[in-house]
Amino acid sequence: MNVLIVEDEKALTTEMELFLSGNSYLCEVCYNGATASEKIATNLYDFILIDLGLPDYDGLDLLKEAKKYNPEAACIILTARAEVDDRIKGLDLGADDYLPKPFSLLELQSRMQAITRRKFGLKNSVVPLGEFNIDLTNRAILYRETVVSAITKKEFDLVAYMLLHKNRTLTRSQLSEHIWGSVVNDDYDSNYIDAHIKNIRKKLNVYASPDWLETVRGLGYRVNVNN
Ligand code: CA
Repeated sequence: MNVLIVEDEKALTTEMELFLSGNSYLCEVCYNGATASEKIATNLYDFILIDLGLPDYDGLDLLKEAKKYNPEAACIILTARAEVDDRIKGLDLGADDYLPKPFSLLELQSRMQAITRRKFGLKNSVVPLGEFNIDLTNRAILYRETVVSAITKKEFDLVAYMLLHKNRTLTRSQLSEHIWGSVVNDDYDSNYIDAHIKNIRKKLNVYASPDWLETVRGLGYRVNVNN
């Protein structure tokens, strides 16, 4: 999942970026509101973390833009301001959560995971998929008790992302933007998605058929879940 971090305190930004990248989130960083505003209008994110106290911009305005141009992104506001008012305004404007500074990175991660579970209606973080189980916390695909260890991090990210957006066709460029952070425009460039899907199928087929992973001709891929 891709995350836009908007925060002018560079030390904090670096900490968040390192921590979240280490936990397989794909991060982009902005130190000011103007750059963030452009990115929010141009790209699609899974998470947008917005510091309310930016030097050049009202964080609440940025939140409004995020709700408008990135309606599917989960927004978390970061605030050092003591005023409860801004947090309430932020939540009223549709922020999914807020974190008062200073906060622990583990808390940030656990709030992000909670938002993901809530947003996608997951009861817990291990989700059955055909004959497999997808463990979203430990980032592993299991067949019965066995971890399918051949699955790489990016392959896991692809399966997990499609599982969260189950029963919905995702184009190669959507998958690319949310998992690799780059938008592919032609078929040639998106071949690497096809190559990854092929590898996932091959590795899972050793255990059981991943028949829930469908190629939608001319469009992209989808994970089908019946229940
Ligand atoms: Ca600030």
